[in-house]
Amino acid sequence: MGTAAETGTDRTDDARVVVLVAGGPEGPRPRVHPSDQPLLLADDLAAVRGDGCFETLLVVGGRPAKPERHLARLARSAASLGLTGPSPEQWLAGIDLAARRWGPDSEAMLRLVLSRGPERGGRETAYITVAPVSGVALRARADGIAVTALGRGYASDVAASAPWLLLGSKTLSYAANMAALRHAAAAGFDDVIYLSSDGEVLEGPRSTVVIARGGELVSPPAEVGILEGTTLAAMAEIAGAEGVRVRRERLLLTDLLAADAVWLLSSVTLCARVRRVDDVTLSTGDPGIDVVGMVDRAVGRG
Ligand code: PLP
Repeated sequence: MGTAAETGTDRTDDARVVVLVAGGPEGPRPRVHPSDQPLLLADDLAAVRGDGCFETLLVVGGRPAKPERHLARLARSAASLGLTGPSPEQWLAGIDLAARRWGPDSEAMLRLVLSRGPERGGRETAYITVAPVSGVALRARADGIAVTALGRGYASDVAASAPWLLLGSKTLSYAANMAALRHAAAAGFDDVIYLSSDGEVLEGPRSTVVIARGGELVSPPAEVGILEGTTLAAMAEIAGAEGVRVRRERLLLTDLLAADAVWLLSSVTLCARVRRVDDVTLSTGDPGIDVVGMVDRAVGRG
């Protein structure tokens, strides 16, 4: 098993909450599961195939941040996999229970997991885990990050031409993303920005790329084969209300290098300013748009 530094996680704090969420309309209410007890059968398809989908959201002050956006995306991912999953009401009851169990004292990462269930047959598996926000995430927020640009090996039109790759879905098959992060860490970088084989900027393995340019914010469109970020969407709503335009436009690496600022946005790390891409140091001046503040307000921290 990799070290915490290699996997980009801190595994020093044992605090965990686990909530089992019933599937199907007649299922019982969600219930807390002892976090030190096994939950899945050994042949659960999440474990043996990564066959399922998930969401990760922030808990702030004991409350989940933008749960409706996450549930809408989870429903889209589930539909793309042919899964049903619990109803939004069942998920919300589970999220509420898990967040209350965690309490208001510290921020947490809450994960919703939906698996196809045991290979031998049976119901889908749906559960929630809550864990502390990692020190890696807190440092990225505070200090910014150095990233390496890595090829993803696909052209930017592959989402449409090969929908079975599920590029717009948040599936449990994240092993390649974790490998990219280990590859970056081994070379001394904090994170990754993926490029398509035709040179377009895509996304991070767990984040959305956004740049500031000439008083506007620009982020690649979903059709290049990336996950539609809930943090970007929530931030764009605030930005719009504050008169800042957020455009979706195809970007090249040279656009990042020339931008007034570059960030990686995601639900738990929130906003990490990119200070360096490979051996190029980026502008770290004030771009005149308070992206950190807008993201904070979008998730109920501001
Ligand atoms: N892209 C990928 C591949 C991700 O895993 C994530 C994180 O979930 C994001 C983008 C950012 O999405 P969000 O802002 O909803 O966390």
